[in-house]
Amino acid sequence: MSPSDATGEDAGANPVTPAPLAAMPRPRRDARDGAAEPETQTASPRPGRDARDGAAELETQTASPRPPRRDARDARKASDPRPGLSGMDDKDLEKWFAAEGQPAYRARQVREAIWKVNAKDAEEILTLPAPLRAKVDEAFRVDTIIEDEVKVADNGMTEKTLHLLYDGSLIESVLMHYPARGFGGQGRPLHRERHTLCISSQAGCAVGCPFCATGELGFGRDLETAEIVDQVRHAARRLAKTGRNLTNIVFMGMGEPLLNLNRVLEAVEILADPRKFGLGARHVVISTSGVVPGIRRLTALGPQFTLAISLHAARDPLRDVLVPLNRRWPVAEVVAAARDHARVTGRRVSYEYVMISGVNDAEVDADALAKLLRGDLAHVNLIPMNPVAHTPWVASSPERVAEFAARVRHGGIGVTIRSNRGQDAGAACGQLAADKAGEPPAPAVAKRRNEIVRQSEIALQGNRSAESLPAGLAGFVGTMKPR
Ligand code: SF4
Repeated sequence: MSPSDATGEDAGANPVTPAPLAAMPRPRRDARDGAAEPETQTASPRPGRDARDGAAELETQTASPRPPRRDARDARKASDPRPGLSGMDDKDLEKWFAAEGQPAYRARQVREAIWKVNAKDAEEILTLPAPLRAKVDEAFRVDTIIEDEVKVADNGMTEKTLHLLYDGSLIESVLMHYPARGFGGQGRPLHRERHTLCISSQAGCAVGCPFCATGELGFGRDLETAEIVDQVRHAARRLAKTGRNLTNIVFMGMGEPLLNLNRVLEAVEILADPRKFGLGARHVVISTSGVVPGIRRLTALGPQFTLAISLHAARDPLRDVLVPLNRRWPVAEVVAAARDHARVTGRRVSYEYVMISGVNDAEVDADALAKLLRGDLAHVNLIPMNPVAHTPWVASSPERVAEFAARVRHGGIGVTIRSNRGQDAGAACGQLAADKAGEPPAPAVAKRRNEIVRQSEIALQGNRSAESLPAGLAGFVGTMKPR
């Protein structure tokens, strides 16, 4: 599905002048598995506006009441037809300059301004003469992100950013810092310092996992290639101020990456291009909730990426509820595709598993997980769920998580227990965007909670869901019939 198909944007309308982020509706709490890493959470630093890039660091959210939820369509009143420069193909840019009577090297100058200078607007493309800069500005967006709101947590080790796009869509990225550790004999670290960025591939998500704030928001639209890579440029800009570089990128933010795979692959190609961002594709993790044709397509591309599967349940009845896409591609099909990926690429597959008390953390679940992955080139990451406002669920206790991990390990599978970073800064995927969207009407919240309880009770009795795919998701899988 193309972005315009998804949003019904009017490509001929004027560029939007959206409300500043600070003026939009405010806080609430939720959770998800996106930015999962072991860490402690502490108070975040003070607000402060960066005059150069417009990023605002805000204090941890206070308990102010949420306003009523806005209709997401309210924010989509305008569009900007200019393509984003950072997502453009070199040849297309050369053609544009040729049509303007300019030599091909102008495209190189623009590329260097975007990726080496990390320009925010046409005025920063200083290698072009001023009249040409004005023409570039008329034809393209140098930056597709209009404004950032940055929240810092974990003593500065986690930075969560809410990005405002031209049509009012809100997406999130999370920058996580990992110091060097495990120093060897000559003082060299066994594990180097890392700076990992978790990015979004869609605004909202159609999959609708009930433990995820993005899932509750629903699907907005696919991100353009430039909107994906501009999240990286924004983080790189902030890091560069302290002489640091991004080392890893994970597609675990808002959206299902394999439902916007063409653009995700274009973004990875751009990020890996040594003339552009220059990050090896091996430093990229692409996660999926189980889009089997997409996994097979990644496999055909060879050992370029690390594949992560958001599994969350090893038994179909439960996974039908936790990851509704399972009603189309059940556990066995997803794991078979991931197994083939590991066999063909020689690369270990990560399985993410959010731990939900009394739902998917029983011994029978651990045994099913170990049995499912036995003999595979696989590793399991267990992530205790953060409280989510509109579900009846809570995280498994630390003791339960440890017991579960031990049981899976006993079954021969490698396991790491992780905790969500930045819980004091809206750690969960979609939480900041959901806060801005405001509180849904109380009857809708009650209905959602009741439905989750009803469906999970059926699942825990071992019965598969009779529900069809969520409407938006059915549109994505197109002609492929739901189970
Ligand atoms: S697939 Fe979508 S709904 Fe499910 S956890 Fe990921 S972002 Fe949330």
